[in-house]
Amino acid sequence: MPEHDPTRTDRLAADMRARAADKAARDEAVRVVAQWNIALAAGGGALWSPSIRAAIVADRPWLDVYCPGCRTSRVIDIRKIDRHPLASVGSLVLGLRCSWRPGSAPMPKIVGLHALPPANARESAS
Ligand SMILES: [Zn+2]
Repeated sequence: MPEHDPTRTDRLAADMRARAADKAARDEAVRVVAQWNIALAAGGGALWSPSIRAAIVADRPWLDVYCPGCRTSRVIDIRKIDRHPLASVGSLVLGLRCSWRPGSAPMPKIVGLHALPPANARESAS
């Protein structure tokens, strides 16, 4: 049991530390997602992907996916997906199926993570 209640200064300091930690976590998540988006745009990004939590903390929850089978784009709000937050964003394409060419379509390609849904993509329920 503490000898005294925290002073107002102690509480303010603790609050500032918590806010600084939140900002540091968000900055890191933003950096990780930005690096991945850059790697994807350059044709890479296949060796790793951010966690679902990183995308949400970075405030980039819209996953843009392109299907080479039917040549359409879909956007998925990963906040609505029931997966472990440490699962990789890249693993989400495993659950996607082309409705036009089931069974024979190539694997969907992830285009990137965005703060807002891309205008040319339609939202997917899956
Ligand atoms: Zn398709």
